Amino acid sequence: MYNCGPTVYDWQHIGNLYAYLVADFWRRTFELLGYRVTQVMNVTDVGHIVGDADEGEDKMALGAQREHTDPQTLATMYTEQFFVDRHRLNILDPHVVSKATDHIPQMIRLIGRLIDTGHAYVASDGVYFDVTTFPGYGTRLNAELPEERMAGARIEVNPNKRDPHDFALWRRAKPGDLQQWDSPWGRGNPGWHIECSAMSMHYLGDTFDLHSGGEDHLFPHHECEIAQSEGATGKPFVRFWMHNRFLRVDSTKMAKSAGGFHRLSDLESWGFDPLAFRLLALGTSYRKGLEFTREGLAGAQARLERWRGLLAEARQATPPAANAQDDPLRAKFVEAIADDFNTPRALAAAEDAVAMLASPERGDRARALGLLFDMDRVLGLGLREQAERAGQVDPEAIAVLAERERARAAGDYKRSDELREELRRRGYLVKDTKEGQRWERVKSGAPKGSGEAGAEKREVS
Ligand SMILES: [Zn+2]
Repeated sequence: MYNCGPTVYDWQHIGNLYAYLVADFWRRTFELLGYRVTQVMNVTDVGHIVGDADEGEDKMALGAQREHTDPQTLATMYTEQFFVDRHRLNILDPHVVSKATDHIPQMIRLIGRLIDTGHAYVASDGVYFDVTTFPGYGTRLNAELPEERMAGARIEVNPNKRDPHDFALWRRAKPGDLQQWDSPWGRGNPGWHIECSAMSMHYLGDTFDLHSGGEDHLFPHHECEIAQSEGATGKPFVRFWMHNRFLRVDSTKMAKSAGGFHRLSDLESWGFDPLAFRLLALGTSYRKGLEFTREGLAGAQARLERWRGLLAEARQATPPAANAQDDPLRAKFVEAIADDFNTPRALAAAEDAVAMLASPERGDRARALGLLFDMDRVLGLGLREQAERAGQVDPEAIAVLAERERARAAGDYKRSDELREELRRRGYLVKDTKEGQRWERVKSGAPKGSGEAGAEKREVS
């Protein structure tokens, strides 16, 4: 699978991150079902013009100017930040991360093939794809009338283009361009669309299974990729195109211009766990997109904390059952995610297992643990790691817990309360259940800063 990656000229907002969460659900689903996945994601560090257009301001140049740095430093910085956010969301690393600037020769070769096959022509300011040579251009990915969509796309009047819909494969360098390479058509830089055609086919072959992106990629980006790739090879390019609907804040697309622009670190500064955002994203279908509200996120956080509490409590007394594979509830979960990645229905099956965690029957609890740890291969909420950690207590605290157990057995509740306070100082919150003491570990120590304090205290591990 090939995921259209970020243009690394600025922070990725949670709307951008949502697309990578969705791709991660797909990859994990395939792996649970036994497929061997090769996941490739590009990093666009050259050639992306504002508005996905051919003319106008270059995103990397804009970012470099804003940050008083060069495009390469800018790209390194925002790529690193993007991966920090991905890791906080438990998004698996792609097997290949391909940087556009590392693949200029592949792009130049592909453009050369398009010129040789008559699909592209050289003009005074660059090389263009001739859309009239590719029947069905712009109509392959959805049922909307192309005229309607074309009318919505930005068309520049450029006398060098034979047809206004033709798009740039190579742009001749203009004075002051910070990123430029030699090519048979003069020094310049590649168009954004050719990058993805060249890199995806380089790693995955002329025809591959799945190509993903956000709904904004449908046109022009992915229609252009199809025209370029199939024009050059004469073979089908991608078997399945997958697009997620946007994340919306107050029913509008999250865009920097609209104001409602949130980073993952903003959510954390409000006191939320990044994995609560992951759980929120699981609660909707990628075909619908995510209606983001703070109340929704608070609901997801409460749900995550409830799951964690029940898992930690059950895990302290019970090892997980090993035979989750044959469980009918697992079959229900798999049936849901195998049905067009229906994560809301899969979550409902997981919720059935969570309900079983509180069962008085040890066998039920073991079954629920085994199931949830298995389901978490797709959910990616770190449930096993969190529950296992909760089961580990340092030896001194074990001694205090044992003393408290004895105090309670002897009816010495005053001593028991003192020891509860002692445990709290050591970072354990103890509660008494019918089956004895249960604990949650909380981070001890003073909060580092006002912003992160909420998140620190929230963490139950
Ligand atoms: Zn792309």
